[in-house]
Order: sequence, then C-alpha cells, then structure tokens
Amino acid sequence: MMPNLSIVIPVYNEEANIPHLISRLITSLDTLGKTYEVIFTNDGSKDESLALLRAAAEQHKGKIRIIDFKGNFGQHMAIVAAFSESRGSVIVTLDADLQNPPEEIYKLLLKIDEGHDYVGSYRDKRKDTFFRTYVSRCVNWIREKITDINMRDQGCMLRAYNRSVIEKIVAGKDHVTFIPALAYKLAQNPTEVEVNHAERAAGESKYNLYMLIRLNFDLITSFSIAPLQLFTMFGMLTSTLNGLLVAYLLIRRVIVGPEAEGLFTLFAIVFFLISVVIVGIGLIGEYLGRLALNLSPRPRYEIKAIYED
Ligand code: UDP
Ligand code: MG
Repeated sequence: MMPNLSIVIPVYNEEANIPHLISRLITSLDTLGKTYEVIFTNDGSKDESLALLRAAAEQHKGKIRIIDFKGNFGQHMAIVAAFSESRGSVIVTLDADLQNPPEEIYKLLLKIDEGHDYVGSYRDKRKDTFFRTYVSRCVNWIREKITDINMRDQGCMLRAYNRSVIEKIVAGKDHVTFIPALAYKLAQNPTEVEVNHAERAAGESKYNLYMLIRLNFDLITSFSIAPLQLFTMFGMLTSTLNGLLVAYLLIRRVIVGPEAEGLFTLFAIVFFLISVVIVGIGLIGEYLGRLALNLSPRPRYEIKAIYED
C-alpha cells in the first residue's frame, strides 16, 4: 500500500524525546486526513531509543517503520536510508528532538499542493545558542555567495519533498552530508515557508563545534569549486606583487647596492606566504578527500534490521 505521506526522522540517542515526539506527531498526522507512514532510522543509538521506537511501533500498528543501522552513519545518511525505504508520494523530514514542531507539517503540504516539488523552511525565531545562530548566519551568507543554492536557513530540517526528488537522491551514490542542499539542486520548483522553532526538548545537541565545521566544509566543497578558483586568483595576485618586488630590488641593487636591512619584514612576508600555501594544501585535500569518498565502493550506510508489520 502506498501512503500519501512518509515522515522521516533520524534518531541518535533521543530516548528522552521519543515518547513525547511520537504522541505529538501521531496526533497531528491524524488530523491531516491523509494516509501516512513514519520511518525512523536508529543511527546507532547507545541508549534505549530503539526499544522505545519498537514499543511505539507495537502501539501504533502499521504506522511506524524502523530502520536500525549497524552503527552511527550520521544524520543525513539516516535520512537517505529512510528515503530509500519510503513509499509515500510526499516525504517530510524532521528532527527527533521536537525542535521542529510536528504541528507545522501542514504548512509544507499546502505548498506541495500548490505544485512545488521541494519545500524548505526557515525558522521564525531560532531557538539555539547565540553562538550557533550567529556563526550559522555567517556560513549561510558565504554559502549563498559561492554556491547556487538559495536557502534562507540551511539548518532547518523540517522540509517536504516530492517523490520525484527523493528518487533522484536515492539513485545517486553521492556521499553528500547535507541532503537539503542536494535536494534543492535536484528540484525543479523549490520554495520555502516560515515555521516555528522550539528549543531542544530534552538531551543535548549531537553536533559539537568540530562536526559543525566539518559539515560546513562538506557543504561548500560538495557544491562549489569557487574556493579553489579564488585561491588560484589569489596566487596569481601575490606572484604578480612578488614579481614587482623582485624587479624593484634588482634595480635598487644596481643603483644603490645590496640591502641587508628589513629582515623581519622579510620574515613576515615569508611566514604569511607559507601559511597561505598550507591553507591551499588543506583546501586541495578537502576536495581530494571528497572525491575519494565518492569514488569508494563502500556503501554509504549499513542496515542491521528493518522492523515493520
Ligand atoms: N542525528 C542522527 N545522527 C547523528 C546526529 C544526529 O541521526 O549522528 C539526529 C538527531 O537524533 C536529531 C537530528 O539528527 O533527530 C538533529 O540532531 P541535533 O538535534 O543534535 O542537531 P541540532 O539541532 O543541534 O543541529
Ligand atoms: Mg536539534
């Protein structure tokens, strides 16, 4: 049976949120008057998440399916796995921590009914730490400039996709760590709506600073080679300036004689250029790493079991 709607939720150590999430979710889905399935991917949780999900599936028979991963493959791979198991003609993603209120799902569906194949969302008042909100705004701005992805708020995971977009994501073998951006590229008629945002109901964010930096590097290197091009242009500029300096010193040597002063100026310039080279090597490494990952025959994720009626 093909339901109208598939709800996709990645879960990593969310035992404190699952009971509340499920009761709110089922209640609001029941008011939509559509057939639906909820697909949870348990992304290698070490707590009682899986047991709680299975109990909920027992309680709401036929409505909940669970994909149990062999380990932790990350939020976006959890979403891809659920996409590939989904059967609905419209697929909605949201987080398990109740930051995306299930009561807002209808807003996305209205846009799908208007003929959009991708509905993103932006948070009216973002309920994250000041630091997260501020840094995220800066990164959002950079991404907006150097990729052709237009998203007001890249972090909000409450999104709806038409089956056509989902099929393209599942068919691709891309190790991309940021599904909304990939979906945006594949969509033909994307749009966005404003949604509420709540504080994490319980537990802690699964992303530390290091992971956020990694995620944003991936986001940029997956969708743009502008950093490499900018780097080349910068290299051309500095070598031009350097050429001029050499010419000047040469002429000066002939007219005034050799110079030995300005040692620290020289150091400063050399250290600066060395650090630029290190950044460049790192940058190339980012692209190479991504290439290696995408060429690797290893699967993007591994499933231990699927629980469904
Ligand atoms: N998540 C996941 N695997 C991970 C990290 C997170 O499935 O490795 C899930 C997590 O359980 C939640 C969603 O992804 O449902 C978003 O995570 P979180 O709320 O920690 O991110 P934040 O809201 O802080 O960006
Ligand atoms: Mg969250």
